Amino acid sequence: MGTKPRSSDAGGPQRTCAQCGAVRGKDRLLRIAGKPGGEWKPDPGGKLPGRGIYLCRSGGCMVIFAARIRTQKGGARWKMGAGGTDLAKMLAAMASGEATK
Ligand SMILES: [Zn+2]
Repeated sequence: MGTKPRSSDAGGPQRTCAQCGAVRGKDRLLRIAGKPGGEWKPDPGGKLPGRGIYLCRSGGCMVIFAARIRTQKGGARWKMGAGGTDLAKMLAAMASGEATK
């Protein structure tokens, strides 16, 4: 749409929100780090090893995503297993914190 270069001028790497599909700079997204079948947790600093799932920090994506992975079935989509339930709680807590900032 615009005339800006896609990657080099956008202030860093771009990632896709797992919930809404928006492509944003990494600093606009919350990284969730983990590995299939293991523990998943929010990784705001982007430092944890493992696979990354990215969610918009605003716009409700964290809340919606948390609601989806709260169940075993929902978490299975990202191979989270039972870890999705704990992550859902953390995300919900973070989302409410972000909203009041
Ligand atoms: Zn999103």
